Amino acid sequence: MKKLLQLFVLMFSIIAFGQNTYLHCGKLIDTKEGKVLTNKTIIVSGKKIIAIENGFVQPKTSEDVVVDLKSKTVMPGLIDMHVHLEMETNPKAYLEEYTLNDADIAFNSLHFAEVTLMNGFTTVRDLGGSGVNVSLRNAINQGKVVGPRIFTAEKSLATTGGHADPTNGANNKLVGDPGPKEGVVNSVEDAKKAVRQRYKNGADLIKITATGGVLSVAKSGQNPQFTVEEIKAICDTAKDYGFHVAAHAHGDEGMQRAILGGVKTIEHGTLMSDETMELMKKYDVYLVPTITAGRTVADNAKIEGYYPEVIVPKALEIGPKIQSTFGRAYKKGVGIAFGTDAGVFYHGENGREFAYMAEAGMPAIETIKSATITNAMILNLENEIGQIKAGYIADIVATNDDPTQNISTMETIVFVMKDGKIYKQ
Ligand SMILES: [Zn+2]
Repeated sequence: MKKLLQLFVLMFSIIAFGQNTYLHCGKLIDTKEGKVLTNKTIIVSGKKIIAIENGFVQPKTSEDVVVDLKSKTVMPGLIDMHVHLEMETNPKAYLEEYTLNDADIAFNSLHFAEVTLMNGFTTVRDLGGSGVNVSLRNAINQGKVVGPRIFTAEKSLATTGGHADPTNGANNKLVGDPGPKEGVVNSVEDAKKAVRQRYKNGADLIKITATGGVLSVAKSGQNPQFTVEEIKAICDTAKDYGFHVAAHAHGDEGMQRAILGGVKTIEHGTLMSDETMELMKKYDVYLVPTITAGRTVADNAKIEGYYPEVIVPKALEIGPKIQSTFGRAYKKGVGIAFGTDAGVFYHGENGREFAYMAEAGMPAIETIKSATITNAMILNLENEIGQIKAGYIADIVATNDDPTQNISTMETIVFVMKDGKIYKQ
């Protein structure tokens, strides 16, 4: 009966979509069981995976296509929970806020989006830009341009002078007094309005900067910047729109306030205490480590003039600590959601994060589960992406080596399929 049903689905998809794609996989990572399977065929029809068969199955019609991945390791498309597709690090980045127009940002972001997809990341969360990221998401969804599936926070929420206040560091003539419309919040009422404005602007989720940050032109990289009441108002309002909330946080006090306020993920988590790790577990909050960003800012801070002066001591202090905190949190059983903060380093290098996570003590297979099945669950897409399974969206990537034996192979993705379409082979 089951076989008959499978045959029917197969016949239907042949009639409905014509051509099917047969991926012959030497190795296939089962992200649910955490196992590496051998000699499998994935059959893709339209945007979906319709079957996984044992061995290398030949197509039934001459229209079908066979892709030979017999020497590769195949896995679900990767998900990065923390990128900024509107920008990329460079020594002039701080000036660009005053020189680039939205159109410039849009053209730049097209390139960053394409590079991200070509390196195996088929889905990302964009955690804050100017709002161009909403248009980018729409253009990708409409098939007009090439890039990953984007879930965007649009513009991050901050307090006055906080990590994502868009006027930080500007001279007096340029500094206005931005409010909730520009994402700056200083009360419970502002918090509600800022979330509703993001909804109006087309965001998919909310990002807040719960503490100071390394790369803002401001003194502290770790002070708390919202009250618990403000964060709670943000999270409660976000819930009305089906949004979850991501909180940037380096300092411990701000992290605790964010967790108690109801956020879903803590980004960076640099100075997290053991007590806060217990709170993370209790409230089912995930850590998004961004080790690659921490390493990069610490390296760039040693280059004379790369960052404004106020940033250098923060980058040197906070950057290198992210990896060891991640290692402690993982060992304590805190949930880990893969995320890199790409944009703070070059887009497309997101895959570096895997080796850094493994270096800190997380088994390779767990790092891949984090970047697939865990992230899919946080995005409420656990029945659509993050696994290679019949009925799931055909987001599929491959590496030359088996990452459970050589994790750095994740930095060189050799095959990319998104929504059933091959982008790299
Ligand atoms: Zn970020």
